[in-house]
Amino acid sequence: MIAYAERFVHENDTETRQDDGVSGLDLQLQGTLDWSAAATASAARDFGGLRSAKPLAVVRPAGPDDVARSVRAALRSPSLTVAARGNGHSINGQAMSDGGLVVDMLAAGAAHFQVGRAGCGAGYAVVAGGALWEDVLEQCLRYGLAPRSYTDYLGLTVGGTLSNAGVSGQAFRHGPQTSNVTELEVVTGQGETVVCSSRDNSELFFAVLGGLGQFGIITKAKICLQPAPDMVRWIRVVYEDFGEFTRDAESLVTRPDGDTFDYIEGFAFVNSDDPVNGWPTVPLGPDQRFDPTRLSPDAGSVLYCLELGLHHRSSDPPSSVDSVVGRLLGRLGFVEGLEFRRDVSYADFLLRVKHAEQHAKATGLWDAPHPWLNLFVSKAGIADFDRTVFKGVLKDGVGGPMLVYPMLRCRWDKRTSVVLPEESGEIFYLVALLRYTLPYPEGPSADRLVAQNHEILRTCDENKIDYKLYLPYYQSQKEWERHFGNQWARFVERKARFDPMAVLSPGQKIFLRSS
Ligand code: FAD
Repeated sequence: MIAYAERFVHENDTETRQDDGVSGLDLQLQGTLDWSAAATASAARDFGGLRSAKPLAVVRPAGPDDVARSVRAALRSPSLTVAARGNGHSINGQAMSDGGLVVDMLAAGAAHFQVGRAGCGAGYAVVAGGALWEDVLEQCLRYGLAPRSYTDYLGLTVGGTLSNAGVSGQAFRHGPQTSNVTELEVVTGQGETVVCSSRDNSELFFAVLGGLGQFGIITKAKICLQPAPDMVRWIRVVYEDFGEFTRDAESLVTRPDGDTFDYIEGFAFVNSDDPVNGWPTVPLGPDQRFDPTRLSPDAGSVLYCLELGLHHRSSDPPSSVDSVVGRLLGRLGFVEGLEFRRDVSYADFLLRVKHAEQHAKATGLWDAPHPWLNLFVSKAGIADFDRTVFKGVLKDGVGGPMLVYPMLRCRWDKRTSVVLPEESGEIFYLVALLRYTLPYPEGPSADRLVAQNHEILRTCDENKIDYKLYLPYYQSQKEWERHFGNQWARFVERKARFDPMAVLSPGQKIFLRSS
């Protein structure tokens, strides 16, 4: 079926539709174009719940050709923009398009899946840009394979995370998701469909990875796979001292494969019995209990937890897994007795946040605003960050996880558009402040939490902590220029080359559409 987008003016919408310059917009889609109030209202919301921008219409593409048709239609109009929307899990309206087209990439998320055994790691999967990582995992597991690098939560699309970086506890070894893709099919801001890799059309390939959707819409990605383990020994160990926590974390991420864990993350938590911010957030099951008498009397107001995972096979004798874990943990200086272990299937481990999602949906925490703040902080600045932010501004927690864990710069490709702290050291940290609070007035107002985020950034600036926002959001081009630093010129050149009319990804507020 070919859908023609006949101009359709809703009774209440006459004013906004008068001057959009898209009369007779004819996309000739194989999929559909949805002008309905329900569709545009839904595309005007995201997980952050802080901003809203209503599009003119929502495109549900049947495949890559429809994505290209949408971009070409926008190019024919003097002002229309196009935002690819993955699962809308951005915080600050990044996947929105005020008065433009939103392309719902999920609609064609299952349009393509192909596994190959050669080329990259143990094989590769070619998936649609709108595929959810949880679906990619499920499909790959049928072949005994799995992606190498993840995000903590898999209800995100391949194109959405590749446009940022995509990090979790595997990034120290395999790099972010942007380091685990070998080929992309991209619809550029000129409406052309281009296959690119580090060899062919490499400038586009690297521009798009971490490119915040500015240079093209990812319609397919070829992802590196590994043999899937079947089990994970999931471990948490507690520290009182930040210095000791970071020493152990850094030692683990720099050890060779085979002499360390397969997954390494960490988080800060409050030294209290607060169910959301304190001790109860550490145990790995209802049968485990955090025993605070194990802490020394002079433990501070904030504690730290290393979260580790070791892959193994269900056929491995438990004693052999115990012995590897015992050897690796034996080198660490965590608080004796504050160690938690659990064996879970590989899929359950990777889908662990989905269980939290179900709980958050049931309690209203999922649909409330989420003023999250994500940062990359240099190793040189992380102790100051702990002193001034974790133990200062955030000493009572954020109502959710406060992740802090190291990664290695050598696993990140400098040619991508991702921005890391400027200091050249090999180690830097991810800090993620993942607030889950009930909507105001039961919880604090979103404005108050946003103000606290500003206070955190001010504190970093005042203490000269070298950081970059991850999943950045800025209001002005000047701030973007500062964010990109010495990579700004390259970013601007890439924009001029691949999206000269600035049609794409207007919700990032970096460039203005030209006519
Ligand atoms: P959207 O929010 O829909 O889009 C994000 C940006 O990418 C927009 O600018 C959009 O225009 C653009 N875009 C979307 N699809 C495409 C495409 N196909 N081609 C080009 N551009 C596109 N991130 C991590 O790195 N690690 C984590 O562990 C992690 N955990 C998270 C947990 C939760 C509960 C949530 C809500 C977010 C988490 N994130 C994490 C952040 C997440 O990676 C980003 O918010 C990501 O952008 C969301 O993907 P999405 O598919 O919802 O994209």
